[in-house]
Amino acid sequence: MSRSCVWRPFTQHAVEPPALEVIRTDGAYLELSDGRRVLDAISSWWVTTHGHRHPRIVDAIRTAAEQLDQLIFAGFTHEPAERLAAELVGLAPPGLDYVFYADSGSTSVEVALKMALGAARNRGERRDRIVVMEHSYHGDTVGAMSVGARGVFNAAYEPLLFNVDTIPFPGPGREQDTLDALETFTRDRRAAAFLVEPLVLGAGGMLTYAPRVLTELRRIAAGTDTLFVADEVMTGWGRTGTLFACEQAGVAPDILCTGKGVTGGSVPLAATLASAEVFDAHYSADRSHALFHSSSYTANPIACAAALANVEVWRTEPVLDRIARLAEAQSRQVEALAFDPRFSTPRACGTIAAVDVRAPTVGYLAEIGPKLRAEFLRRDLLLRPLGNVVYVMPPYCMTADELDSIYDAIPAAVSAVTRL
Ligand SMILES: *Cc1c(COP(=O)(O)O)cnc(C)c1O
Repeated sequence: MSRSCVWRPFTQHAVEPPALEVIRTDGAYLELSDGRRVLDAISSWWVTTHGHRHPRIVDAIRTAAEQLDQLIFAGFTHEPAERLAAELVGLAPPGLDYVFYADSGSTSVEVALKMALGAARNRGERRDRIVVMEHSYHGDTVGAMSVGARGVFNAAYEPLLFNVDTIPFPGPGREQDTLDALETFTRDRRAAAFLVEPLVLGAGGMLTYAPRVLTELRRIAAGTDTLFVADEVMTGWGRTGTLFACEQAGVAPDILCTGKGVTGGSVPLAATLASAEVFDAHYSADRSHALFHSSSYTANPIACAAALANVEVWRTEPVLDRIARLAEAQSRQVEALAFDPRFSTPRACGTIAAVDVRAPTVGYLAEIGPKLRAEFLRRDLLLRPLGNVVYVMPPYCMTADELDSIYDAIPAAVSAVTRL
């Protein structure tokens, strides 16, 4: 290919090799123009759930495109959006009765923040603070960055970010500090919402915490009428072992963000689900109380049809069994890795598993990250360590043998790059 005109995401063009051209995706594989087949061990940045190009989803996209394309969603509606909203309400934790369509995880978080602030203002309450958890990630738009961890990714934009109250991550032995901090930040009733990634903090390094902590956080938020917002953009659609992670804690949030796997990872769509209470706070004869948000492609009919097909896959195929099988194999494999002194802190939750590599520098810019990435690619494996954190997040169609090959490659790749 001639020189690329594309400016790529999270890419330092000066030091990274040119992008590899994919000509076809298939199940757990990316097929390259040079004939190689790369095993997609991170579900193409966490979006692909069942596998690439699930036939049922591909069919639904094709059929929908014969009939509908983008159409204005204020004053008009269409069956895919209506049916999908009803399905999402049925599948999500109880009490989430309304669905607002967004088009990326980041914008679903922006919408959640606007719902929380709007609800407070419409009720005449002075609640304008957001409480978040240390090491969180909620997306890359300015509002989503504001509620996420500060670091190298957002240092340049810091002047634009708003202040939030941050509770500590509930690492082992620190759970009570986390709960106490939420009590402290919410008891003056100035917090509009507490926003959290349930059970697994993704971009923060695949950090896991116990469901009972989430249960307690929910109880504390309810005690001060602070809206509890679950960012299930990554954790939703089976990633943590259940359809939504909140289920494992018996938690029903006031607002829930979903994205990534909502279409099985086929086309972009996201949604922000809200309780009747949040919706009703905007419901008024006063037009100024409306939720002032839209995006050009809100409720795209083709994307909604893809999401409906995803729901059908969940309904008709043994998806949770596949997930349970992967989860069992992964937790065994990642525990076994930790017998190797070069690894520490093995953790797993559903289909997500991670381990830290002991390296001279740690954190997102750890030198070992890109070296490992290149070494994995040399082995036809797509793994993209977060700094010195190696994680695996396979699509659910991955076989036991394919999974084994990933766990064989991890120590081998570490050997290869540390010998250099
Ligand atoms: C990926 C992610 C987002 C952002 O989603 P985009 O679709 O990339 O905008 C938000 N929250 C969490 C927890 C995520 O993992």
